[in-house]
Amino acid sequence: MNNSTPKLISVVIPVYNESLNIPIIHRELTTVFATLPSYSYEILFIDDGSRDDSAKVAGAIAEEDTHTQLIEFSRNFGKEAATTAGFHHAKGDAVMCIDADLQHPPHLIPLFIAAWEEGHEVIIGVRNNNASDSKIKKLGSYVYYKIINSISKTKIIPRATDFRLLDRLVVDEFNMLSEHNRMTRGLIDWLGFRRHPIYFTAQDRMHGEAAYGFWSLVKLAIESMIAHSLFPLRFAGYIGVFILIVSGALGMLMFVDRYIHSYGLNFSGPAILANIILFLVGVVLISLGLLAYYIGHIYHDVQDRPLYITRKKK
Ligand code: UDP
Ligand code: MG
Repeated sequence: MNNSTPKLISVVIPVYNESLNIPIIHRELTTVFATLPSYSYEILFIDDGSRDDSAKVAGAIAEEDTHTQLIEFSRNFGKEAATTAGFHHAKGDAVMCIDADLQHPPHLIPLFIAAWEEGHEVIIGVRNNNASDSKIKKLGSYVYYKIINSISKTKIIPRATDFRLLDRLVVDEFNMLSEHNRMTRGLIDWLGFRRHPIYFTAQDRMHGEAAYGFWSLVKLAIESMIAHSLFPLRFAGYIGVFILIVSGALGMLMFVDRYIHSYGLNFSGPAILANIILFLVGVVLISLGLLAYYIGHIYHDVQDRPLYITRKKK
């Protein structure tokens, strides 16, 4: 990197119905970057098909401020798509992702940049336990991280957020990934690189409602598990093996009791029939589990992730 041109930091902000928050976050970012005169910056608002006048508000700011650009989606594609679009358009040497609702404090950005300058490539904002979260959300996220970290090869830091700074190397690799069902965080974690956490306390949402209700969080959780692990597919097979072993042993006992040496158990006809059916269910479930392996192979190939990621020389 040539010393005379300042490094460019891109700030990517996915926006869905945030018209009241946009001017505030824009003002805060401008203030923060005023304290970082040795960097140039660009702010990318990605309007994810907002129903309010977010696009108009962000568009007006982009007209006024040469640092700011607006990318407007034709409809709501979801935050993951919006963030991805931001990565595609960002030109920075580093890309900072931040929510529009001010839950990710912009005044911490200098810390992220400092960690980046120290040589870290993925700087991850990790939420301190949030007192205002509902019990159900806390429990949900606890269970989610427990499950995903035990079934998946990609380890995810609990309470890690999308408040992240990525080095250009990581962004370029991210942009090569082509899979459709994606969770940005999970993909970035999958990419690896030198990671560094920064802890912060999430503020309450400034204006408006969280777009992710309980069910969309559940959906996102399920999707990310499916994207990162084949375990849910194989699970049926494991149950099948269990059923097969139990009903097989029971069947043998029934056979011996009836024809070879009576233990006086005298299994009834329906009991024997039920056990035969159970055995067959086990066979079917195992076949499903085997099918899962085939589908898993196809799924992996379709995802078309690179076999490995290298850290290229700058
Ligand atoms: N967002 C988006 N598209 C959506 C939903 C949300 O771009 O379909 C944006 C939203 O404007 C905000 C960020 O994603 O900047 C996080 O959304 P939210 O605050 O609703 O989620 P939470 O804070 O609960 O993770
Ligand atoms: Mg939020």
